[in-house]
Amino acid sequence: MVTKLLCKNCGSNNIVLNGKRSNGRQKYHCKNCRCYRTFGPEYYYSTERKEEILRTYKERASLRGVRRIFGVSITTVLTWLKKKSQA
Ligand SMILES: [Zn+2]
Repeated sequence: MVTKLLCKNCGSNNIVLNGKRSNGRQKYHCKNCRCYRTFGPEYYYSTERKEEILRTYKERASLRGVRRIFGVSITTVLTWLKKKSQA
């Protein structure tokens, strides 16, 4: 599920995943620039995966169903939908 993870600060992939925050965001430590940061939801899913999830959501019209199938949070799906409708 995780595609390529790059440091948001310096763009290096020399990072160590470091547990999760209470809000579900992935924490990481970058060995290159030595920063501690978190990834937003957009870092967990590739574009294809995102499309698949949104398609499933439209077919079933159920956020809970999507959450059950993909383990994606409802907030994340709503954010994608919002972005999509703005585009
Ligand atoms: Zn870095």
